[in-house]
Amino acid sequence: MAAVLIEKLRLIETKYAETNKKYKKSRGKRRKAFFYELIKLKKEWKNIKRKLHNHFRPIVLERDNYKCRVCGSTEDLELARLFEDSLVLLVKSQKEQKLFKYSGPYRTPEERYSMENMFILCKKCHRRFDSFTGRLWRMGPKAITSIQEAIEILRDKELFEKPPFPKINQR
Ligand SMILES: [Zn+2]
Repeated sequence: MAAVLIEKLRLIETKYAETNKKYKKSRGKRRKAFFYELIKLKKEWKNIKRKLHNHFRPIVLERDNYKCRVCGSTEDLELARLFEDSLVLLVKSQKEQKLFKYSGPYRTPEERYSMENMFILCKKCHRRFDSFTGRLWRMGPKAITSIQEAIEILRDKELFEKPPFPKINQR
């Protein structure tokens, strides 16, 4: 079931990017039609994302023994993912993507919903993780590549404040 949903998400994202290109190039009635098409696609996209979340949450909860991977709490557990979903990233050029301060480069649905890139965090640790990833992009697209790294950073106050990554994204 998950593979089907991930494939659906990939197809919608491809279509969204194509439609967005047509939308940008067109004028008048045609433009309006593409605009509504984009809204429709976004709705479908959100729907599938919700289904994926509902599918994976119990599976990852079981794998992670119903505990926050950082502090061990058993309350307010949430499914966290290393890479976020973004339609905005999808339609921007690589160069423009670098201007986004609060997210990384575009990742495929396969990467985003891979078991290796999902883990369980309590609400509090999840917020800290989100705040960290908020700073992440400026540190470079390869700043966090694994759950293990994320856990180490979240457990260490010093690492969290001053991660050992270059401040500006230079590739
Ligand atoms: Zn926690």
